[in-house]
Amino acid sequence: MATNNSAKFRKHTASKNVSTGANTVKTAVVKEEVKTQDSASFASGITMSVEELKDRIVHHLHTSIGTSTQKASKLAWWQAVVATINEFIFERLTQTQYTNAQKDSRAVHYLSAEFLMGRLTVNNLCNLDLYERIKDALAALGKDINEICDEEPDMALGNGGLGRLAACFIDSLATLNYPSVGYGIHYENGLFRQEIREGRQVERPDSWREYGCPWEVCRPESVQNVPIGGYVEEQQAPDGAMRKVWHPAHVIKGVPWDIPVVGFRGSSITVLRLWESRATESFNWDVFNAGGYVDAQEEKASAEAISKVLYPNDSTEAGKMLRLTQQYFFCACSLRDILRRYNRAHHHDYGKFAAKNIVQLNDTHPVVAIPELMRLLVDEEGVSWDVAWSIVQQCFAYTNHTLLPEALEKWPVYLFERLLPRHLEIIYEINYRFLNGEVEARWPGRDDIKAKLSIIEEGPCRQIRMAHLAVITSSRVNGVAAIHSKLVKENLFPEFAQLWPNKFCNVTNGVTPRRWLLACNKGLAELYNEVSGKDWPLKLELCRKMADYADDEAFQKRFMQVKLANKEALATKIKQLTSIDVNPRSMFDVQVKRLHEYKRQHLNLLYILYLYRQLLANPQLKIVPQTFIFGAKAAPAYSLAKDIIYAINAVGERINNDHRIANQIKVVFLPNYRVSLAEVIIPAADISEQISTAGYEASGTSNMKFSMNGALTLGTMDGANIEIVEEAGVENNFIFGLSVQEVQDLKSRGYNSWDYYNSNPDLKAVLDWLDTDYFTPNNPGALSSIKRSLLDGGDPFLVLADFASYVQAHERAQELYKDQKAWARAAIINSATMGKFSSDRSIQDYVNNVWNIKSIDVITGVK
Ligand SMILES: *Cc1c(COP(=O)(O)O)cnc(C)c1O
Repeated sequence: MATNNSAKFRKHTASKNVSTGANTVKTAVVKEEVKTQDSASFASGITMSVEELKDRIVHHLHTSIGTSTQKASKLAWWQAVVATINEFIFERLTQTQYTNAQKDSRAVHYLSAEFLMGRLTVNNLCNLDLYERIKDALAALGKDINEICDEEPDMALGNGGLGRLAACFIDSLATLNYPSVGYGIHYENGLFRQEIREGRQVERPDSWREYGCPWEVCRPESVQNVPIGGYVEEQQAPDGAMRKVWHPAHVIKGVPWDIPVVGFRGSSITVLRLWESRATESFNWDVFNAGGYVDAQEEKASAEAISKVLYPNDSTEAGKMLRLTQQYFFCACSLRDILRRYNRAHHHDYGKFAAKNIVQLNDTHPVVAIPELMRLLVDEEGVSWDVAWSIVQQCFAYTNHTLLPEALEKWPVYLFERLLPRHLEIIYEINYRFLNGEVEARWPGRDDIKAKLSIIEEGPCRQIRMAHLAVITSSRVNGVAAIHSKLVKENLFPEFAQLWPNKFCNVTNGVTPRRWLLACNKGLAELYNEVSGKDWPLKLELCRKMADYADDEAFQKRFMQVKLANKEALATKIKQLTSIDVNPRSMFDVQVKRLHEYKRQHLNLLYILYLYRQLLANPQLKIVPQTFIFGAKAAPAYSLAKDIIYAINAVGERINNDHRIANQIKVVFLPNYRVSLAEVIIPAADISEQISTAGYEASGTSNMKFSMNGALTLGTMDGANIEIVEEAGVENNFIFGLSVQEVQDLKSRGYNSWDYYNSNPDLKAVLDWLDTDYFTPNNPGALSSIKRSLLDGGDPFLVLADFASYVQAHERAQELYKDQKAWARAAIINSATMGKFSSDRSIQDYVNNVWNIKSIDVITGVK
């Protein structure tokens, strides 16, 4: 579904000359009779009335949770609500699995080390069309649905964008009825909980299932045993042929936990299967019998350690043995699961394996699945190398998520020798055949090219380049936004692209409009129901109808009222979490995302300092009141990132308490940014800060969530920002800064940040301010590390080069904000033109260009 929207969007981007004819349409638009909806018309087919649902909740409170309406805590009420909806979910799950087994058509297996699911209750209620009824049922029981749903802990089994993308994709897979399974790791501790103490980040463990997770189901019948460590022996078979036998040192048990993912209108249920590591019983017994109780406990602890924690590094490689073990563990479990399911129908005849299975590798984290599948087929199933290689090549596809060199995973060869000796041999064999086959044929005698393309990086510590293994094997390699895919092909893997030009493609990321609009912004969703009908969460292009009302003043007012209500809700949240008072009528300028130098939260901070200085220098100055809102976790070992968090808090503390500026600016840092907080922040944003150095943000997805919810993007021409303004119109957003080409040119000419410091007095002043104790009383220099990185450190992400242009973009934003009608118009157009960024479109692109799978209608009525 490569959408050709250019003609359509131009209609709305021709700015002032647009005649939408909207003024002639009454804004009361089509009022549907939703309230009197009779049971037959519920979109999900679930016909239970409010009264019946109320009885079910009370029933579960008694019989599933074991408490009473008098004694029940909010947590217990929440558990009872989940038990109530699980009745529907499990029935639908059984039907989906029955259907898929019957049809036996090709399925996609989405392998990802991270799934950032967030909370499921509101999302599932909306997708099942049960939200209003459960709300009413709870109200009848004297309970507020918001308070009850607020009891749910976030499932934070991911760091940020990559993990959230995986979560949006399984939502779309379920909604679009594609046979699919998500595979990942059942981390006992998700991403750390962030506390802010005296302005600094403190990490606390996140034990999300301390009191159990009512969504997940353990599946003991699908436990897998995974070998690891040991050595490889060469044996001669009776026929004289040599074969490799791996004698592993340990066997780890993988226990699957299934989380049902509910498609919109309950269409089908896709399973997210997460593997938990345990010690195998057999091993423990051996040690016990030898009298080694303590050893056995250690063995148990090290087996369980594998799925204990999510690595909190976002886009940097963590060179840890445990991390490689995690990757191998979940891939090995998942492949055995896939083989088991295949063999049930096809009896170890692998002729149809590739026709029935495709495995999507979400970044390089699951790439060790490639040698593992080769090993399973060749060593354990007796398939010949050539046949196995042909199967494996058809079965894998790889998504690249980053060009950052420090994030491209490499594993030392010695680690593989220790943990995965047989896999190492297989990787060598794949590499040997590749270099002496295709590379030699194309570039005869070119050892330099062989060295560059080899899976093995030579050097004092030989390393395995996981991305090369992925590219060499996969049938398709995709980037995640048009610009990124182009850079993957031209800059990252140019020789691979020469060898296989058709292997490389683009799939621009998307986000699910169910969670990121329907469920989190009920006010705006209601407006869309009126103007676009109720199918827009399935066909996000329908939202474009709202652009017809962009010039309608009455409609603009309604749109801005929804925004104001969302801002009031966020202001309440801000007060709760930080005690800071903010004015909901001020412009909400938001930057929420992981903290990283390339994302440039410090550029934003420099602008705030600049603005504050202006206000102090001109006490009469009246500006558009602005609230700057940040949310960001820093990797615990990333000290500059943590210093930036501290700086934001220190600057905020000073500004928020400075009466001279009369509350014209406020700076808020919301602690513990996560999915559930994003759902409150994003609908309330006026400005979406997407200010990465051009060429560094592969796609971004929060940019899409913000635009859908009517924020205007203040951003660089990077990642999916480029495609967002292509849809919404560059004149409806605030684009600034160097382009990808200009960044490359400036870097190759030799960038010197001191030049910008010396030639821009405002910039010099704010940087020098960081060396004083103005923001950190009695502690001068507490913020100096930021200045140092931008000057002595060479400013690798060109913050100073983009500063002046960034200031101008902010000035344009304030100018437009003064004209609320013009602002409303631009906000409406932004929201209305985001159809392309539904993850349903992304999934359809994968289906068409990568997976070649078919959608299946679930057979109902099966028990
Ligand atoms: C969408 C999302 C992200 C990704 O944000 P980017 O700005 O695209 O990096 C990260 N964290 C959470 C909680 C999200 O919802």
